[in-house]
Amino acid sequence: MIRFGTDMDDCLIDTSSQILKVLGKPGKKIYNSISRYEISKCLNIPIEIVEKVIEYVLNLENIPTIKDVEEYLPKIYTIVDYFSIITLRKPSSRPLVVGSVQNLLGETKSFHLFLSDRRANGVPDKASIIEKIKLDVFVEDRFATSLDIVEKTNCKVFLFDKPWNRNRRKHHGIIRVFSWEEIYDKLLEMREK
Ligand SMILES: [Mg+2]
Repeated sequence: MIRFGTDMDDCLIDTSSQILKVLGKPGKKIYNSISRYEISKCLNIPIEIVEKVIEYVLNLENIPTIKDVEEYLPKIYTIVDYFSIITLRKPSSRPLVVGSVQNLLGETKSFHLFLSDRRANGVPDKASIIEKIKLDVFVEDRFATSLDIVEKTNCKVFLFDKPWNRNRRKHHGIIRVFSWEEIYDKLLEMREK
């Protein structure tokens, strides 16, 4: 039995590349310089501008997907017993999120979608949802969220390797992953145990 969940932005779709593009800062070199979660601090752009751009990008349909996800997400769907998406996005973006995930999985596949709130410290409160639905594995790119999850739940986190989570130290329960193929292989291994 594997109860599986994943974040959406920067795990399923390449949201950050899109944000950098709209900010007029495209390209791999700039992307790789985003060494913290705050784009405005990394690029020295006023936070109000970055927030406006993020708001705009989060309303876009058809943000390009993360490499491999189109091939492996449907495969993962078939080997897990519970499939969920937990994202910080606003309730108004629910139809857009459903559409994006259904593009990846296929129209007929049902899944569980949860829109998380933010804690007072700014970290998305995914842990309380994960605790409630008893996930075994969650895929996330933000280190602070990952840490919150492993500290408060029994859920393992697959931390998707990104420039903004690379300089964090290792932590028990947080496993760095580099591709959806690797996530699929790890889930297969877990299933055989
Ligand atoms: Mg994310």
